Amino acid sequence: MKDSGPIDVPVRIPGTECRVLVGRGLIGRAGEFVREAGLRGACAVITDENVARHHGEAVRKSLEAAGYRTHFFVVPAGEQSKAMSVAESLCDRMIEAGLDRSSFIVALGGGVVGDLAGFVAAIYQRGIPFVQIPTTIVAQVDSSIGGKTGVNARAGKNLIGAFHQPRLVLAETDTLATLPDREYREGFAEVIKHAVIRDAAMLDEIDPDAPRENLGPLIARNIAIKAAIVADDEREQTGTRALLNFGHTVAHAIENAAGYGQFLHGEAVSLGIAAALEISQRKAGLSAAAAQGVREKLAAFGLPLTLSNGLSTDELIAAARRDKKFAEGKIRYVVSPKPGEAFVAEDVTEEDLRAAIDSLRA
Ligand code: NAD
Repeated sequence: MKDSGPIDVPVRIPGTECRVLVGRGLIGRAGEFVREAGLRGACAVITDENVARHHGEAVRKSLEAAGYRTHFFVVPAGEQSKAMSVAESLCDRMIEAGLDRSSFIVALGGGVVGDLAGFVAAIYQRGIPFVQIPTTIVAQVDSSIGGKTGVNARAGKNLIGAFHQPRLVLAETDTLATLPDREYREGFAEVIKHAVIRDAAMLDEIDPDAPRENLGPLIARNIAIKAAIVADDEREQTGTRALLNFGHTVAHAIENAAGYGQFLHGEAVSLGIAAALEISQRKAGLSAAAAQGVREKLAAFGLPLTLSNGLSTDELIAAARRDKKFAEGKIRYVVSPKPGEAFVAEDVTEEDLRAAIDSLRA
């Protein structure tokens, strides 16, 4: 297929300047785009060992060809790297390498690297600019957009962090060719979530067999959905951004209770969406047929709909209680009355949540 050039997705978050490009061949031109974004100084590329192996050299070549002095910092792959100790060690290594306030960071990898490197950029010498080169579906459609950065605490996911918007996002679809199948498929849980909350037509158009290199327009469409929601409510003050939590209450409880690693994030989100559909049927009038349509889409990507491990409902409720969203003892739960629409319900009870979790074992 002829490459028609990158898609420039308008992202207008008040007070920030962020250019988002989606398509093929972006890494080869990364140095050029970084320069156009006005970034000077030395560059710290933070990546993980898998992504470094597949795409590190291409990024280094491109940045160095554009005249950037480039330092690579490679962390182990996986959620364990999203830790304060890793962020601290990266800061120490960057200081040792002589990277000063005029430097910038490139986050090259999935959501783990993006969240971690973005957090380091937010705190290093009181904040330096950063660029996201997301290399998973999750990172391209979700985590690289919106400026939430952070690491996990012992008590739960993402409990330590900062809002820090990237200057530039290069969603290079060619990187998806090397993504393992399971990690590829899990990313579609967030795409399906976007369809449920904002874009019903997209639900019919998502195709598990679509060639990866042709995903640019779908990724751009998802970025536009996320960016519009974030632009409306960057700091989660009006409630709009909370819509992105559709399916995430139970997902975070599962990740928390099961320990990181057993479920991929998207797999936990798939189960969380299944629970949210159940609650939406009870509390928001979602039709059984519409709920079934969403479930079938999740299943088409091989995403789980039933909880097959030994987690009890009590354990999951206890984990949900530790969630930020339960802070005031009130459950603010996102429901969908019909595909393409969602709102935060105030009348969801712990009993509803229990019933929805129980339904995942049916
Ligand atoms: P990940 O970053 O762990 O990547 C998944 C695996 O794929 C890793 O082993 C990685 O090394 C490998 N990988 C990545 N890109 C590759 C490529 N192109 N080729 C080969 N291997 C590749 O996982 P993820 O699903 O991208 O991100 C999950 C994280 O994102 C979670 O920590 C979650 O909390 C976070 N997240 C953050 C936000 C946000 O708004 N900040 C939103 C959603 C998710």
